[in-house]
Amino acid sequence: MNYPKSAYIHIPFCHRRCSYCDFAIVPIGDESNDLKNISIDSNELIENYLGYLYKEISLTKETFPLSTIYIGGGTPSILSSNQIGSLIELISSKFGIQEGAEITLEADPASFSLIDLEGYLNVGVNRISLGAQSFDNQVLLEIGRKHNRTQIIECCNWLKELEAKCKLRSWTIDLIQNLPNQTSEDWANNLGDAILQRPPHISVYDLQIENGTIFYGLRQKGLLNLPSEKESSKISLFTSSFLKRNGYYRYEISNYTLPGHISRHNRVYWSGEGWWGFGQSATSCPWGKRFTRPKSILGYKKWVLNQELNGPEHSLKSENKSLIDLDEQILVGLRRREGINLYALFKNWGWNKNDLDQNMSSLMKEWSQFIASGKLLKQGDRYYLKEPQGMEISNQILINMYRWWESKHGNPIDPN
Ligand code: SF4
Repeated sequence: MNYPKSAYIHIPFCHRRCSYCDFAIVPIGDESNDLKNISIDSNELIENYLGYLYKEISLTKETFPLSTIYIGGGTPSILSSNQIGSLIELISSKFGIQEGAEITLEADPASFSLIDLEGYLNVGVNRISLGAQSFDNQVLLEIGRKHNRTQIIECCNWLKELEAKCKLRSWTIDLIQNLPNQTSEDWANNLGDAILQRPPHISVYDLQIENGTIFYGLRQKGLLNLPSEKESSKISLFTSSFLKRNGYYRYEISNYTLPGHISRHNRVYWSGEGWWGFGQSATSCPWGKRFTRPKSILGYKKWVLNQELNGPEHSLKSENKSLIDLDEQILVGLRRREGINLYALFKNWGWNKNDLDQNMSSLMKEWSQFIASGKLLKQGDRYYLKEPQGMEISNQILINMYRWWESKHGNPIDPN
């Protein structure tokens, strides 16, 4: 059996909940401006959670040295470098960490100082993902972020300096496009500001309005002024052309990189290789099956205790597990610049020659208009989206694929 060589670790704590966020987080409050001045109660909560997280990691039976580790959240940079160090040490003693492994920490510009940052690097972190989201103070306020533009630039300066001194291997910033009231001019200025910092890697996500968020409530009341479809398409096309002009290669729908800075951990998710996941709400996919942990902190703690009581096999094998459906494999594959080998996917799914031909031809009917327009390209058995036109209409291509997949339900063709 191939053991996963990557691990995702979820740290659920945030100062507050942002207006667009529906992640499994635990807000600990942000009254204090002192970055690491976390209340005793919150600190106890964090330490208590870490205890369960350590327990969960320690219970894993099968291990193999890891080549990527991603500490995400939430806001992992709320933790001290000692806490992050203990986590990496435990992972190292349990699994081993390969020489040259990529160890990423997500950081919020309002939650760490230069000393904290140096501390993270000293304990093994070598890649930082900075949650900038926007360089516009008004926008940051509206989306509920705690940080401001000055803090982002200060963090970028630290990161550049540490990268130049070879103390940091790489870093990336996250941005969100198509935010409320955003015009294409606003976005162009914003992206221009980001490029001035010359991050080696940039992730640009489209705003999604998730059920239960502040933005969702505002939209229901007609109080959220989102960019029109036309403006939003202009914004998205500008992103890819502007970043391309500035030397960034789009290797996945939302991810752009300068040469040599592709996120190795991201590629594990998209490539179909397995990964471990630890912590509240984390999903792991050790061998083609996904296991999702409870979303609430209490539910997670009970789940860990249950694992301890009945053995890790119990909860991992009998609860919250699902095969990665073929439609999802196509979805993650098509997001990548290199696309997917449909023939190989169908074969792995267990379809014999007859079923394979039949299903290929029905999917091609759904995709024929995109292939004819040159937005979905074919090279041998490989299908991939043309950049940028195909990537911009990826949703339509995927909707047609889902329609095809839906038509398979109830179909006697079943891999099992
Ligand atoms: S900092 Fe990130 S994880 Fe935390 S609430 Fe905001 S968007 Fe969500």
